[in-house]
Amino acid sequence: MIKQTESNDTKAGEGLAETLESISGTLKYMAASGCKGFECSPELLNSVKKWGSLQEIQPSDLGGIQSEVSACVRCDLSKTRIQTVFGEGNTRARLVFVGEGPENEEDKQGRPFVGAAGQLLTKIIQAMGLAREDVYICNIIKCRPPGSRNPSPKEIDACLPFLEQQLREIQPEYICALGTVAARTLLKTETPISRLRGRLHSFGNISLMPTFHPADLLRDPDKKRDVWEDMKLLMREMGL
Ligand code: URA
Repeated sequence: MIKQTESNDTKAGEGLAETLESISGTLKYMAASGCKGFECSPELLNSVKKWGSLQEIQPSDLGGIQSEVSACVRCDLSKTRIQTVFGEGNTRARLVFVGEGPENEEDKQGRPFVGAAGQLLTKIIQAMGLAREDVYICNIIKCRPPGSRNPSPKEIDACLPFLEQQLREIQPEYICALGTVAARTLLKTETPISRLRGRLHSFGNISLMPTFHPADLLRDPDKKRDVWEDMKLLMREMGL
């Protein structure tokens, strides 16, 4: 059964590669023949190639990681969680929001950012001209710490490989790290979020924008201005 899926996927992949090759060839030919309105810059040809690598992301890859997460007992949070909160959204998103970890409502629903902070995050995403479905939303840790305390370094270490695998599958161009735990964990630094935010950093080949966590904004609405500055910078970078 699995074999069958693999061979279908391989065929689909080969078909796609041929189609993309032919699109690139046609664009080059049209441009070389002087046809107006047909562009074949290296940037465009590169992005045509990228459609192929995006297509290679099978939902089943993320599904496999999700199954592993839901059975995870790597730390004691597995004893107190109602359920794991894997992440959701566009599995081919250019932009991934990474928060800290599930709270009460997320633990109940099994979905990220669905409580009060989540509603604010949804508004931020909409203010950027996007919908939750356009981006991918997940967290550093996948289980709620009791009392929604901060995750311990041990819990973060146990869970981080799952996020790293998720990011490898999604291959986003941008990450927005929400709050201290996400920003410091991904950037491997102790620098406070107030000094990290306001500019882009690198996470491998992904551009990473740290900003305040939406829960911070609920406690201190003055920080909304800073977050909006960060989002505007991100939008400019993304060409939104
Ligand atoms: N806070 C987070 O960091 N993540 C959630 O999913 C919800 C609240």
